[in-house]
Parts: sequence; C-alpha cells; structure tokens
Amino acid sequence: MYKRQDIDTQIVVAGAGYSGLHVAQRLGRWLSRRSNARLTLIDQHHYHELVTELPRVATGTREEEATHIGLEAVLPDQVNFMQTAVTEIRPAERLVETASGDVKYSHLVLALGSTPNDFQIPGLSERALYPYTSDGARGVWEAVNLSVRRAAEASDPDERQRLMTLVVGGGGPTGVEIAAGFAEELPELASRYGVPPDLCRTVLIEAGDSILPGASPALVQRASEILQELHVAVRTGAVIIGATKEGLRVRGGELVRGGVFVWAGGVKGPQILARSGLPTGTNGRLEVDRYLRVLDHLEIFAAGDAALVIDPDTGRVLAPLAQTALEEAANVAHNLPAAVEGKPLRPFRFHDKGFVVSVGSRKGVAAVAGLTIGGRLAHALKDAIEWEYRQSVKHLRGWGAA
Ligand SMILES: Cc1cc2nc3c(=O)[nH]c(=O)nc-3n(C[C@H](O)[C@H](O)[C@H](O)COP(=O)(O)OP(=O)(O)OC[C@H]3O[C@@H](n4cnc5c(N)ncnc54)[C@H](O)[C@@H]3O)c2cc1C
Repeated sequence: MYKRQDIDTQIVVAGAGYSGLHVAQRLGRWLSRRSNARLTLIDQHHYHELVTELPRVATGTREEEATHIGLEAVLPDQVNFMQTAVTEIRPAERLVETASGDVKYSHLVLALGSTPNDFQIPGLSERALYPYTSDGARGVWEAVNLSVRRAAEASDPDERQRLMTLVVGGGGPTGVEIAAGFAEELPELASRYGVPPDLCRTVLIEAGDSILPGASPALVQRASEILQELHVAVRTGAVIIGATKEGLRVRGGELVRGGVFVWAGGVKGPQILARSGLPTGTNGRLEVDRYLRVLDHLEIFAAGDAALVIDPDTGRVLAPLAQTALEEAANVAHNLPAAVEGKPLRPFRFHDKGFVVSVGSRKGVAAVAGLTIGGRLAHALKDAIEWEYRQSVKHLRGWGAA
C-alpha cells in the first residue's frame, strides 16, 4: 500500500473502449514497476462494449449482453477502475469532473469515443434510431419488431407497405452491414407475424456516388452485388435533407417512406470535448501532434475516435475505426511512460491491416494485402477478426509496455 503523498504520477484514462481499455491493459506491467504511479480508468459502464458487433444486435442475430466484456476480469491488478460518467474536462486545473466527484491527474488519456453525427438534418434526431451503443442497437431491433407487428394489424395496404420498409441512412460499413442484416432477417419476422414476406423492403440511402466511400471500385462492385442478391434497394447520390414521421426526404423532394429509420451516417467527437476548450478540428475531434498529445497540452494524450490523427503517409485523416483506435492505444501506451520518465517519444505510424465488411450472415467483402475478396471467405475473415479481438482482450490482462 502506498501513501498518497508518494504518488507523483496520477494517470487518468477516460473511456474503456477499444483505445482506453488497451492503454490501461498495456500499462499494467509498467505500473507494477512504478510504485509512485497510479492509473485510474473511468467509464460509465462496468463492461467493455464490442461496438464492431453491434450491427448484429441491431439486426436481431446477437443478444446485447453478448457484446459486453466485464472490465473487472480483464483489467490488470494495478489499474484502479471507476464506474462513473465523466461530465467535464478542466485542463487548466488538470482535473476530470465526474458524477462521483473530481479526479485530479498529472497525465490524462482522452479515449471517450464518438457520438452520432446527424449533420443537424431537420427531424432526424427525433425520427431516426442510432445503433452506436448496445442499447441503441437493441432499440433498433425492437423498433423493427414493433413495425412488423403494426403492419400485421394494419388494414390499409399503403400503410402496411410503409411499415414493412426499413430505411438505413449512410452507406458506409455500418450502414451496409445493417441493411444486409435487415434484408435477411425481415422475411422470417414477417412470416412469424403472418405478414406476406413479399412486402419486406430494405432501402439503403447514401449521399455519395457509391456505397463504402473510399473503398476500391472492385470491392464496392462486389458488395453491391451481394446487396442486390439480398434485395436491398441501394440509392446512391441521394442526400437526406429531412425526416418526417412517414419517411426520409431526399434532395429533389422525394420522400422515401418507411416504418423504421436507422442513421449510420457518421460520427463526431463528444460534446464534452467541445466544452473542454481543448483544440478540436474536423467533426469535433481533438487535434493532436505526431506523438498523439493534444496540441498545447503535452500532458494530455488522445486516442481512438476522439482523436483527429493525420496519416503522415497519405496526408488524410484516419477513419474512426477500431483498428485505428488499437494502434493509437499501443502508441500512447509507449509514449505516456516515456513522457513520465523523460525518454524519447515515438511518432505514431499507422499500419493499415485492411478492410473487412460483412454483408449479411454468410457473405462479405474484404481488401487485405492488396487483394479484394468477396463472398464467404470475407465473412469468415470478419468472424475471425471478432474472435481474435475477444481473445486479445483477455490475453492483454497483465501485458505491459516493456
Ligand atoms: C455500429 C458500429 C459498427 C462498427 N464496426 C466496425 C468494424 O467492423 N471495424 C472497425 O474497425 N470499426 C468499426 N466501428 C468503429 C469502431 O467501433 C470505433 O472506431 C471504436 O469503437 C473507437 O474506439 P474508441 O476507444 O475511440 O471509442 P469506444 O470504443 O466507443 O469507447 C468509448 C468509451 O468511452 C465511454 N464513455 C463515453 N463517454 C463517456 C462519459 N461521458 N463518461 C464515461 N464514459 C464514457 C464509453 O462507455 C466507451 O466505453 C464500428 C462502429 C459502429 C458504431
């Protein structure tokens, strides 16, 4: 047991998602050698949420609880965990305000993830569902069930068709995964409620010229083919400008009618970061230097969706992905102890491991090692990545920065 005054390094990691949990896990061994350093990990939940598996929850093929990993079982003994909500960051006082009181820090890691970005489209926040958390994803599947139940009771054919139409806004990986899952699951749900399966419709709306923006034309083509096999109606170049009770309005005036609207159109930094006075850039993400320290605040590191990291090789902002979050976490877990000990920091370098998207429960698309793969192999790859990630979370307990 150390006396409080012996501790001169108070590290606080805010957020136990892909980046924050991994920073905490990787610092376990270093902490065991530093009797004067303490690390407190703060999260609103007592579990780590497997966000990349949420499309399965939103489409009724996985239970919400199956996407939770209890933190207690995977945290190194040296990490002090606080389950509470972070309410403010006060950099000038080196203090994190939480629902359970203030927590002082000498070094802070901001890993609070992101929130849905609805680009302030009128009506969207009231009408659309956001599958970005496990309860949000569960809510999507509950809404689908309710819509089908109402369709079963509706006597007006137009209203029946509207209720049996599921509309997904945003044709990135999350939108594609959810639309494909809907198209697969809806017919079975319809027959359970006695609704003719030929009324099932799934529409995927994307503002850009193609789905999966940034992916190669070959990959987009393959994903589009699989969506077509599943009877997903893909609408590209369709900019959503409003939402009503009946449907999503696209530029040009057309109303895409539906019973459930899901928004998968992107993310932005949490409001708490905007309020902190720390420098933020595109989409409210924190501006960082090449060592992932927040600009002008060298004692604060940022990682994951919250950080605006520019890939020095391409000059582009890195996409908010789990893969990116994990690599950034590894870098922070190296640089933070180095900063404490006055050793040289390591610039962050992104190593792209590829891109995998499941399109339904059997097929997928992947771009790995310069190859484009489509079909069952790509889906198996996605399953393998999820399995491997779960194993790594357990394995990393007791791992540490050397
Ligand atoms: C539906 C969906 C599917 C996705 N699929 C993929 C995929 O297949 N592959 C991929 O690479 N990426 C995918 N992503 C992106 C990936 O999940 C994110 O990039 C990743 O989760 C970012 O990690 P993070 O650590 O920044 O944030 P998160 O993992 O979101 O963690 C943030 C943590 O902060 C906590 N937190 C937030 N605010 C507070 C607060 N005020 N107080 C206390 N705690 C707080 C949260 O509880 C959470 O534990 C997907 C995202 C979504 C939404």
